[in-house]
Amino acid sequence: MKVIKFGGSSLSSATQLKKVLNIVKEDKKRKFVVVSAPGKRSPEDEKVTDMLIQYANSYLADKDVHIYQDKIINRYEEIASELSLDAIVIETIKNAVIALTQLDKKNPDYVLDVYKASGEDNNAKLIAAYFSKNGLPATYINPKEAGIVVSDEPGSATILEESYDKIYQLNNLEGVLVIPGFFGYTRDGQICTFSRGGSDITGSIVAAGVQAELYENFTDVDAIFAAHPKIVTNPKKISELTFREMRELSYSGFGVFHDEALIPSFKAGIQVVIKNTNNPSAPGTRILASRQTNVNESVIGIAGDSGFASIYINKYLMNREVGFGRKVLAILEDLNLNYEHMPSGIDDISIVLREDQLTPDLESALLDHLEKDLHLDEVRITHGLSMIVLVGEGMKRRVGVAAKGTCSLAEAGINLEMINQGSSEVSIIFGIDQAKEKQAIQALYHAYFD
Ligand code: ASP
Repeated sequence: MKVIKFGGSSLSSATQLKKVLNIVKEDKKRKFVVVSAPGKRSPEDEKVTDMLIQYANSYLADKDVHIYQDKIINRYEEIASELSLDAIVIETIKNAVIALTQLDKKNPDYVLDVYKASGEDNNAKLIAAYFSKNGLPATYINPKEAGIVVSDEPGSATILEESYDKIYQLNNLEGVLVIPGFFGYTRDGQICTFSRGGSDITGSIVAAGVQAELYENFTDVDAIFAAHPKIVTNPKKISELTFREMRELSYSGFGVFHDEALIPSFKAGIQVVIKNTNNPSAPGTRILASRQTNVNESVIGIAGDSGFASIYINKYLMNREVGFGRKVLAILEDLNLNYEHMPSGIDDISIVLREDQLTPDLESALLDHLEKDLHLDEVRITHGLSMIVLVGEGMKRRVGVAAKGTCSLAEAGINLEMINQGSSEVSIIFGIDQAKEKQAIQALYHAYFD
């Protein structure tokens, strides 16, 4: 059996839902259907999840919520009426949307998550009703019933291992099962969502749990491209990627597939394929445990992400000071700061972290602690960096890959603030001024792909 997940743009209107029904009907193995909330119908449109966040914030701030209630109900109503669904379907959704204003406001983080989760929950009910009415017997399954137990971390929950045995039991149920993505229940029965875009994670968890033969992730592009099509014209389509390559690319700005969604499928040995709802016959991109690299291939994709800061730390004879690294990391830990990279020299270390974590107060506390507690010779921080990542299993043991990239950046007049190549040799990261991000990706793309 297969798990098939549809993203918000595939479920944004009645027209899209008709395509979805055909896709599910086409293959009898498509038994587990994971769905997002309705997404955007056009670039200017609003996602239901974003409307729900506004609705929740107004409710929590004791403001008038009617405009959000109406907007959200209208989105479902429009879809339901175009699909001629029974009145009871929209009635149930309407009641669920309005009932959100009965929630206890004691813990706003939980309240927000219940609002957000309702987007997928209501959509799953609507879709199950639509399938059933159109010759495909389908049942809505709530994540609690499915056994999706998550950590108690509103907005960024993770799956608990104990879930998988229960999820496996879904194999015993008849017909197509429609499961809302994006959320699960804590051991105490509290709804917690994954991070944004997290329906991909649910799909992967269900695929791992039911031991599916394939996890099909339907979105609105024909394939994953070697670089972002908004940055490079007509980038190459990627037909196969390994999990490691995909993890690096999606972490660094490839929004097609959530980076956290890879782990459950990878661990369970399940292949993932990314496909297009609007062009289902296109082969898409397969994500596999390993793949054959051809002799001429090095880099398979280039991604970039901005919003990083780098803290430069220098101390003479740092290389001889046992425990120095631990002390640096302890300071970060005390301030609850997450770091992403830590390239080092003999007497210096740079710590690269996402700068949205740094309020001005926190930043000065951090610099103060580093300087005083570690008796540094120098400490300074650079803001506004982008991390550009070259990814490819084919880079391993191939001479001159980094040279090609650094030359092309030099020719484009782009200064390198940092270079980081992990020991896995699956990626090389260049830290540059974020104002030059686009230009850097274009230069690198031409160097490796033209
Ligand atoms: N609806 C959620 C979001 O917009 C989750 C998802 O679509 O994957 O983030």
